[in-house]
Amino acid sequence: MHFLKCNNCGHLNEVKGEYLVFCQKCNKKLENNYSDWKTRNPDKSIEEYKRLVCITEDEIRKEVGNS
Ligand SMILES: [Zn+2]
Repeated sequence: MHFLKCNNCGHLNEVKGEYLVFCQKCNKKLENNYSDWKTRNPDKSIEEYKRLVCITEDEIRKEVGNS
């Protein structure tokens, strides 16, 4: 699973597809949402987006473990 963190409220939104644009918790527009990112990176796929921009469960676990 991949997540996109909301810069407004810190909620981790699960990235299930290409259409995650608004935070599921506070409804603010997410920075680095896929459609904006795709505009800047038209040659890249959603898999690359997930790898480069989103955070994974493992990374979240690490973050929690370190704090
Ligand atoms: Zn939010």
